[in-house]
Amino acid sequence: MANSMTERYLDNNKQYASGQALHKPVYPGKQPIQPSNRVAVLACMDARLDVEDLLGLQTGDAHIIRNAGGVVSDDAIRCLVISHHLLNTNEIILVHHTRCGMLAFTDDLLKAGLEGDATAEKLLGQATGRAFMGCKKSSATPSAFHAFRGQIEPLDAPRDAKSTERLAWAVRRGMSSILNHPWIPTAGSDAVTVRGFVYDVDTGKLEEVSYPGPMGSIG
Ligand SMILES: [Zn+2]
Repeated sequence: MANSMTERYLDNNKQYASGQALHKPVYPGKQPIQPSNRVAVLACMDARLDVEDLLGLQTGDAHIIRNAGGVVSDDAIRCLVISHHLLNTNEIILVHHTRCGMLAFTDDLLKAGLEGDATAEKLLGQATGRAFMGCKKSSATPSAFHAFRGQIEPLDAPRDAKSTERLAWAVRRGMSSILNHPWIPTAGSDAVTVRGFVYDVDTGKLEEVSYPGPMGSIG
């Protein structure tokens, strides 16, 4: 039954947050190419997220797709379509997290800094604590960095109501992008389920994001 594995992984996460390691880092022997629990996880690349551990995944259970933010990018959709249609997964778990770096800049700011704008370089340097050195060149790619919407905050700032709301918006936008993609079926016998979470890097706990709901504001 769809969603059953997600529930199991949520139980695993409670154990992980209480200090119990469930992921076994041993070679399991020969396994099939299809993920045995039919799960695909899309998560941020943040170094503090150990996806196998925080969900209690075992080798062979799931596809794990990661990028900056856990953004539902063109490439993430490519992976999810292959994961479902060719490799039989039917539960998608989207994981964003507190203190995410994607809360701390905007696409325009980063692009301007990379192109050598002195003010942007200075602001990015202050935000990251690293001397930001623009490249003084423009580029058509990447077309977007997908920084999260809303008022930016300092890098790695502790969570507050506003950042929690911004993360929930980003998770919902991601869920909507997956759920409404023409090549990801969400009804009928081949349906995929999608659930979205914010992982708290200070507690190790996953918090589910309600869906549908607000996806953003420019205010
Ligand atoms: Zn992140």
